[in-house]
Amino acid sequence: MDEKKLLKLLHDAEEYEDALDMLHPEDALDIHHSKSMLSRDTVQLESLGSSVSKLAVVVGHTKRSPGAHGVEPISMHEYFWNNQLAQQIQNTANSQGVDCKIFFRDGIGILGAYRNVASWLPNACIELHFNAYNGRVKGTETLYGLYGESKKWADAVQNAMITLYERSGTNDRGIKLRKIGERGGKNVNQLKEIPSCLIEPFFGDESSEQAPDSLSVKWT
Ligand SMILES: [Zn+2]
Repeated sequence: MDEKKLLKLLHDAEEYEDALDMLHPEDALDIHHSKSMLSRDTVQLESLGSSVSKLAVVVGHTKRSPGAHGVEPISMHEYFWNNQLAQQIQNTANSQGVDCKIFFRDGIGILGAYRNVASWLPNACIELHFNAYNGRVKGTETLYGLYGESKKWADAVQNAMITLYERSGTNDRGIKLRKIGERGGKNVNQLKEIPSCLIEPFFGDESSEQAPDSLSVKWT
């Protein structure tokens, strides 16, 4: 199957899963931050710019539909992996004087999560995922939508990740504009005034793509 066809199927699957999440509002009460999760990543926010003093982090997927499963050493689904990463980003951001709040889609869907983000009024928003295809593709990409400074924000985040992962050539998959109806488009087009992007740092189903020891992002 080609990648385009798979993207379409994944989009449809995510629409279905998002609908399922909204049919289970009780899931929103089931969120807890597990302190016992492994902490393999450490996050450093270097040279923090004054432009980001309030950062929203959205954990991709939900406990009910947790996304792609990563092979070793990740050995868990996107939702659980990125739950712990979100907490590390929050801790690091807080230690650098940046207000950071984590948002979930459980029980309220993508729209519900972004409504909560919008009412918190952050300077920037990032949704955490990792990619999966056929177990043989590697690379880093960042999705962004049509509004405001999101392209600039996506560019900064992508650049930080390609430095971290030492990507070059086709492994730097670049930033990608996504409209509603395309995979990730619903996520990145909810915030009209707030720069927002969705990251796919690596392919979790490719065994040589290991989660990094550090995610060093320059929030400028
Ligand atoms: Zn995902």
